[in-house]
Amino acid sequence: MTTNLLDFDLQGLVAYCEQLGEKRFRATQLFRWIHQRGAKDFDQMTDLAKSLREKLQREAEIRPLPVITQHESRDGTIKWLFDVGDGNAVESVFIPEDDRGTLCVSSQAGCAVGCRFCSTGHQGFSRNLSTGEILAQLWFAEHFLRQHLKTDTRVITNVVMMGMGEPLQNYSALVPALRAMLDDHGYGLSRRRVTVSTSGVVPMMDRLSQDCAVALAVSLHAPNDPLRDNLVPLNKKYPLQELLQACQRYLEFAPRDFITFEYCMLDGVNDQPEHAKQLVEQIRSYGNGKPWCKLNLIPFNPFPASGLLRSSNERVAAFAKYLSDAGIVTTVRKTRGDDIDAACGQLAGDVKDRTRAAERMAKQRTIVLKPVAG
Ligand code: SAH
Ligand code: SF4
Repeated sequence: MTTNLLDFDLQGLVAYCEQLGEKRFRATQLFRWIHQRGAKDFDQMTDLAKSLREKLQREAEIRPLPVITQHESRDGTIKWLFDVGDGNAVESVFIPEDDRGTLCVSSQAGCAVGCRFCSTGHQGFSRNLSTGEILAQLWFAEHFLRQHLKTDTRVITNVVMMGMGEPLQNYSALVPALRAMLDDHGYGLSRRRVTVSTSGVVPMMDRLSQDCAVALAVSLHAPNDPLRDNLVPLNKKYPLQELLQACQRYLEFAPRDFITFEYCMLDGVNDQPEHAKQLVEQIRSYGNGKPWCKLNLIPFNPFPASGLLRSSNERVAAFAKYLSDAGIVTTVRKTRGDDIDAACGQLAGDVKDRTRAAERMAKQRTIVLKPVAG
């Protein structure tokens, strides 16, 4: 098979070009063509020698992921379902806001962690995505959106690894993808604007802090071990104290001076006053009295197989107030793309959904997106 150039960060592309007998700066040119200009055909790359272009044509490609469906929500959110072969599909979601454009990216087809409240978790694990498949989501979305919005400037200003899969269980593919996102010759995103979300793979959090310390979000969901064991089975391997200590170590290298905790609000399960109290105690036992984390409460997006319900708005508000009163910066996540099932944990990625998706797409109206400020 030909080499997929999306599989490389710049360093990897330099090594590949050296194998072809090409100088380092050629790799930089090529990398810019691919990621900054969204080129797919070597013919376009007119500043590369014809001999090199011919060599690349024979041996390499820029391999996109086939798009199965594309949904636009009334609020501007766009969701793509990409085919990754063998009946597997992954999703990416673009979320436009006034001052930024965020792309939510998948790292695996399915997920092995198996959280109770997550539909990806319920699907089980199919396979890791390659670096090329992770980057293909951003490469496609960015260049599609530039055309769609008729702009030459950057549309995606933030990336969150919060799609399907546990990014830190696909570490070796993740890191080169992150590096290409950060590279000035690639997407040029700052480390603060790229967030890895993890259910708490402690050893890999330490490695990430050394290899590519981007912003970190940790999916907490429970303030004590018995409850977290039940909701996030990985907790049995890396229990709360180990996880919170790993967060402290990460902070020394993090691009921001806080870690974001995600907390999915489940009716009657983890949303009671005693849970808020325990959470404050846990957080206060670290950080020497200084704030060191933010809390992001996510209203649960229900799906039938979970057997769980979303906490009421009043309950979420009361929980948020308790935490805020205790001095912990707390936000409640706004649900976006509700009408297209683009919310967290609703990313089904099942190709069997295709029919349903296609039907729904037929009903969707066309909307004009406003350009997002870079
Ligand atoms: N595996 C990583 C990243 C992907 S999940 C992780 O767990 O952090 C991204 C976020 O969506 C996580 O915080 C996850 O807990 C949350 N999530 C999953 N299912 C959800 C659901 N049904 N409703 C609301 N949030 C959910
Ligand atoms: Fe995997 Fe994250 Fe879903 Fe848990 S919440 S099953 S870790 S994708």
